Amino acid sequence: MDNSKIWLSSPHMGGMEQQYVNDAFDTNWVAPLGPNVDGFEKDLSNYIKEGVHVAALSTGTAAIHLGLIMLGVTAKDEVICQSMTFSASANPINYQGATPVFIDSEPDTWNMSPEYLEQAIRDRIANGKKPKAIIPVHLYGMPAKMDEIMAIARKYEIPVLEDAAEALGSHINGTMCGSFGEIGILSFNGNKIITTSGGGALVSKKEDYAAKARFLSTQARDEAPHYQHSHIGYNYRMSNICAGIGRGQMEVLPERINQRRANYERYYKELSNVPGISFVKEPEGYFSNRWLTTVLIDPEKTGGITREDVRLALEKENIESRPLWKPMHLQPVFEGCAFYGDGTSEKLFEQGLCLPSGSNLTDVDFERIFSVLNSVLAKQPA
Ligand SMILES: *Cc1c(COP(=O)(O)O)cnc(C)c1O
Repeated sequence: MDNSKIWLSSPHMGGMEQQYVNDAFDTNWVAPLGPNVDGFEKDLSNYIKEGVHVAALSTGTAAIHLGLIMLGVTAKDEVICQSMTFSASANPINYQGATPVFIDSEPDTWNMSPEYLEQAIRDRIANGKKPKAIIPVHLYGMPAKMDEIMAIARKYEIPVLEDAAEALGSHINGTMCGSFGEIGILSFNGNKIITTSGGGALVSKKEDYAAKARFLSTQARDEAPHYQHSHIGYNYRMSNICAGIGRGQMEVLPERINQRRANYERYYKELSNVPGISFVKEPEGYFSNRWLTTVLIDPEKTGGITREDVRLALEKENIESRPLWKPMHLQPVFEGCAFYGDGTSEKLFEQGLCLPSGSNLTDVDFERIFSVLNSVLAKQPA
């Protein structure tokens, strides 16, 4: 059998991307603005609905950074962040010189625990400092418990900056991820459900935020014939070339979501009866884009087989898989930061594995993946 690399999640072009990029060349819009940027922003706001306004930016990380700036986060502040996530959710807190406070996951969606969120807010307020913002994340496409999180945020009047980098197209009862918070962010990095090679966006129902993000991301130039500045600016705008790729990708987004969800179904069918293997289910009304299919591997029930055994067995066959995000409160760089929780995210990290989940996986790829999984988990093929 062919032993070519099977990636965790690789770019999957639809076909029209090249045309939009060619248009940019033909019209010489090879710049960090232009018709593709405008078009991509419109495509995204039409897709997310809820009347959102969108600013296309260079990365999702840049979107989080600008979001925190616009929410007024400065050096003396604390910002609450989900602990189990990619470091890009938390790093921009430090860009502002502020301090992250990390919150554990709950076991249903693996995202920010509303219970520990409220405990943390009360405790920080009792310590004399009200958190300046809350950053929940929709891990692997699964929406966080946004109704509960938004209710707490409203009760204590703290704005929510929603990290929807992994969750474009996910929703709760039809309300799209990215549109719950005061500000939402998206990522179009190479491994996400759609990609612009690298890119991100800031989303908000408030037009002012999108407008200000465009202003700050293009060096904060005041209106004047000369270069005039009354704010510190950033070079964070999306290029018209990348946005062209994004416009093509938007045409196939619904198909990509179907493909990712079909991957999940396929793994579920093959593995859900294996003792010690479990999946994260969609709570009632929740819809996940299933960006990555993830499993928990409990060695007490698999006869001692750990997630690392499975990962190494896949790697030996040139198949990429990866442990779940290592929680931020366990990362050396965030040592000493406050944490509220009961160890749920640590357990998820110990047992969790992300399986190959690209929308471009073939039947032959799945045969190779299942052959390894079935043999390492000592399950005979049906
Ligand atoms: C990918 C990702 C980001 C960062 O997006 P970039 O576009 O790579 O900067 C932020 N948060 C989460 C949860 C992500 O997965």
